[in-house]
Amino acid sequence: MKNAELFERAKKRIPSGVNSPVRAFRKVGGTPRFIREALGPYLVDCEGNRYIDLVLSWGPMILGHCHPEVVDAVIRQAGKGMSFGAPTELEVRMAEQICEAVPSIEKVRLVSSGTEATMSAIRLARAFTSRDLVVKFEGCYHGHVDSLLVRAGSGALTFGVPDTSGVPREIASTSAVLPYNDIEALRAFMAEHGVRVAAVIVEPVAGNMGVVLPKAGFLEELRRITRDHGALLIFDEVITGFRCCYGGYQDMVGIRPDLTCLGKIIGGGMPVGAFGGRSDIMALLAPEGPVYQAGTLAGNPMAVTAGLATLGILKRENPYAGLAHSLEVLTASVEESARSAGIALSVNRVGSMAGIFFSERPVETFDDVMACDAAAYARFFHLMLDRGVYLAPSPYEALFVSTAHTADMLDAVAASARACMAMLSERV
Ligand SMILES: *Cc1c(COP(=O)(O)O)cnc(C)c1O
Repeated sequence: MKNAELFERAKKRIPSGVNSPVRAFRKVGGTPRFIREALGPYLVDCEGNRYIDLVLSWGPMILGHCHPEVVDAVIRQAGKGMSFGAPTELEVRMAEQICEAVPSIEKVRLVSSGTEATMSAIRLARAFTSRDLVVKFEGCYHGHVDSLLVRAGSGALTFGVPDTSGVPREIASTSAVLPYNDIEALRAFMAEHGVRVAAVIVEPVAGNMGVVLPKAGFLEELRRITRDHGALLIFDEVITGFRCCYGGYQDMVGIRPDLTCLGKIIGGGMPVGAFGGRSDIMALLAPEGPVYQAGTLAGNPMAVTAGLATLGILKRENPYAGLAHSLEVLTASVEESARSAGIALSVNRVGSMAGIFFSERPVETFDDVMACDAAAYARFFHLMLDRGVYLAPSPYEALFVSTAHTADMLDAVAASARACMAMLSERV
């Protein structure tokens, strides 16, 4: 079966042919690759084409695909039952492991997606503070929660206008959107509206507009300002959790949010999310407290087994310095190739995640991201894909490396990037 044939078949029965929008390749054009299997750093599509995978399921596969220890654990668990709807020791171990790893998490609930984690954290924050307003930042993505699918109009801070149809204005207006990395905007907003703010939610490293790092002092000031106004600080570490170091980005920078959302890596490729934090806040959850939150498959034994195996390997092997080094070598080479081809490129990188922007200037804000040359990215994407390198099919997503990507393999990616940059410059 060919990718194009499958896509036509898919579009007859699945809206746009995909179960999550970016997969449809709309931002880069062309036909999505339908993946048949994956192993280590590779994806294989339904036509038998092999790609070096730098998307890694949007982050979870930090050990590469089909790590033997993870696969063994999951197969063994499958023989013992796939879902019980009753507590298990696995969940207890997972909660202990998360609390031990992430300093600010005293208690944690497992859910089945990052979206559920942020949705629940916000409900909890609103209940705890008896306030309604939630502040988010432009370009930060927190899953498809109704009240979080909002962003600001150009520049100025505004109360939310729905970013998608189907979200009532009343719900969107319970969120305010501020520019990421602009502490003065937050300070001004909180001075005026702080008494109504239940929580400020932030990706400590923005990973859903490419990768944009927090400016020095931004997260520290966020912590201080939220505390001063009696609002909770929620770190959405669905991408960054267990990515740059074992404890999450908060551990790297020594900041303790009140609540933290996790997902992606903690499921090792299975559907898992988590939210946790201060035990006085978590105590509000039902049945002990008045905040309802539940899930038929929450803490699912198969998913938790994959997560536990993944976290166990990360803890034991501590691959973080090696991953950061691999990515540094790769991105340095790509930057050099762009320079020698006369192409303006700006790379943001931390740990094993990077954002590649076709931009003349450093990318520090949502506006910088929007000013990038998306068409150049689309051309680069397809040139790389033709050479067997699978980048994110959108200029607004991160690039990841895994422990399965060897130095030789990344050298091959760098060589492909060099050739593609040269071709791009010829076309200009
Ligand atoms: C992926 C992501 C989510 C949503 O997680 P899902 O599992 O897709 O629902 C939330 N926040 C961040 C920062 C993410 O990257």
